[in-house]
Amino acid sequence: LNRRLAEFGTTIFAEMSALAVRTGAINLGQGFPDTDGPEEVREAAVRALRDGRGNQYPPGPGVPELRTAIADHQLKRYGLAYDPDTEVLVTAGATEAIAASLLALVEPGDEVIALEPYYDSYAASIALAGGTRVPVTLRPRDGAYHLDLDELRDAVTPRTRLILLNTPHNPTGTVLTREELAAVAALAVERDLLVVTDEVYEHLVFDGEHLPIASFPGMRERTVTIGSAGKTFSFTGWKVGWVTATPELVTTVKSAKQFLTYVSAGPFQYAVAEALRLPESYFDDLRDDLRTKRDLLSAGLAAAGFEVYRPAGTYFVTTDIRPLGESDGFAFCRALPERCGVVAVPNAVFYDHREQGAPFVRFAFCKRTEVLADAAARLKTLAG
Ligand code: PMP
Ligand code: GLN
Repeated sequence: LNRRLAEFGTTIFAEMSALAVRTGAINLGQGFPDTDGPEEVREAAVRALRDGRGNQYPPGPGVPELRTAIADHQLKRYGLAYDPDTEVLVTAGATEAIAASLLALVEPGDEVIALEPYYDSYAASIALAGGTRVPVTLRPRDGAYHLDLDELRDAVTPRTRLILLNTPHNPTGTVLTREELAAVAALAVERDLLVVTDEVYEHLVFDGEHLPIASFPGMRERTVTIGSAGKTFSFTGWKVGWVTATPELVTTVKSAKQFLTYVSAGPFQYAVAEALRLPESYFDDLRDDLRTKRDLLSAGLAAAGFEVYRPAGTYFVTTDIRPLGESDGFAFCRALPERCGVVAVPNAVFYDHREQGAPFVRFAFCKRTEVLADAAARLKTLAG
């Protein structure tokens, strides 16, 4: 294995989904919905395929219809104006947006600050770019995870190139507050840092609100914002993501993207352009449905004896397994399918400081109500 990738083996999501298939357990590990997104959006994809829109290489930055829809979305929701021709880039999911941003913006030896626990592709993408990751740990306290702004400030060195942010945050479900984001923004301006912000869960916020850091003073010109259709429209298999940033930053990210995938799959782009224009009720219903599911699974986990960190956003709930007399999340997750027919993810994989994450386990609740109820009943048997 390439030395830069040697520490990364197989991604935990593939490992845990394979475990679920092998054991027939309910898969609350990998985060993907068990029902597909809106019928009319699927129909839009079929229409594009039939009409021959996007069946040959689409334009490198993405089809104009989608770039315009993304720009309109950022303006309508957040008051952020981006030029669809120069300030929007369509990518093969947020994953490619993250990889391309880091490959394009990080020089070998540069330090990249990331909130720990972090989504697993961040570490690999930083490594591929030759950067050094500097984790700043979110600390569990009073039933939620918190960013220590002093720790963040102390993590910045003359070698820091950028802060890789993620809100709403996977796996903890934390939604950074206005005060926290203002402090991160002030630090970025003061120390002249770029911010790459992964906002793929922007529409899945149950308590509080999602605020894009690009909307804070001095941030629009130094922020690369990443979004994805996977979460918002329940099409994780379509792999349509995007970047919004200044023309200079978009051009830089595009320089990496063009040699990773060249362009992203065409017909789905037309469909996502329509999806972004769905009526407000679509976004409200998605959020309300997931809030109910969050509450259902959280209650089930609490009844089974877990300590539950109630997520303000995303479709994941992090738990502490110590009340169950357990302390090793890895061992717990490997044994869980045999013990009660459920698959979950050990949060330790999202940490450099593995010991910090050891007793925490993540469950996904983007599943049908009856599946969550079944999982809760199975988990209850752990309580004995
Ligand atoms: N960022 C985060 C925080 C995620 O949870 C995910 C999806 N699991 C991604 C990025 C990747 O998104 P996509 O499927 O659009 O590549
Ligand atoms: N984002 C999803 C998760 O966190 C799945 C991502 C993946 O499978 N790579 O579970």
